[in-house]
Amino acid sequence: MHEANHPSRRDFLVTGLAGASAGLLASAPATASAAEPDRPVKVRFDELLPHEFRRRLAERPIAYLPLGTLEWHGEHLPLGSDAIQSERLMVACAQRFGGIVMPPIHLGPDRAKSADEGRMLVGMDYAGSTTPPRQLDGSCYWVPAGFHLLMVDAILAQLKRAGFRAVFADGHGPSRSSWIENLAEREARFGLKLLGVTRELGRQWKSQVDHAARNETSLMLHYRPELVDLSRLPPDRATWPQGVGGEDPRDATAAYGKECFERSVELVRQMFAQAGLI
Ligand SMILES: [Zn+2]
Repeated sequence: MHEANHPSRRDFLVTGLAGASAGLLASAPATASAAEPDRPVKVRFDELLPHEFRRRLAERPIAYLPLGTLEWHGEHLPLGSDAIQSERLMVACAQRFGGIVMPPIHLGPDRAKSADEGRMLVGMDYAGSTTPPRQLDGSCYWVPAGFHLLMVDAILAQLKRAGFRAVFADGHGPSRSSWIENLAEREARFGLKLLGVTRELGRQWKSQVDHAARNETSLMLHYRPELVDLSRLPPDRATWPQGVGGEDPRDATAAYGKECFERSVELVRQMFAQAGLI
């Protein structure tokens, strides 16, 4: 086809070169300042027009990969709580530090074992707080660890091809662990800077550090209070909520959720600064 029919391709090459020469230390601010006051800057990959994608990529070639699943989070939280939290955190980071947020992955690994009558128990199905162990309602989207590795490998290959230089992933606990365990090997294989909540960072990290307990419940009260129903928790404090792990979710508050959110955003800023990304 005619070159004239493909101005966008040329733009892409020019922008790509500019992005490459600016490298990871691009000085152009990628903050909400570019947005109209009442319209937050768009940072979700799937919502960007090509020229917006080119600009954001050139300014800050960082991709954010929210890791979620569909999983029981107590009677009081939505089943997709993991991706909701990781995506909201990453959208805030992208608006403040630049970069582009990928659509969340909902397929995720977890521990699993076979049970009676050919059933399979997954994750919180056989946690200490699930009595008796059983299939918890609404848990779905479990995939074997190897499948998840291949899927993330494919995404990384495409992010590299699209022009990204760094990827930050976090969210659902077992997906986070898989990500961290393979950081160094994948950095070498894909030629990308990869970032995540390592064990060292995890000591200070305040996002998704329990299961449907005080931390996740508070974060959800901060992000999406309309999706939370604390009245579904047992009113008697002597009764521990089923399939919930951590501090008591009945002590959750939106204010604490905001505090955890802000602390985690700040840790991402420090991590990016240390890596020379911002
Ligand atoms: Zn969770």
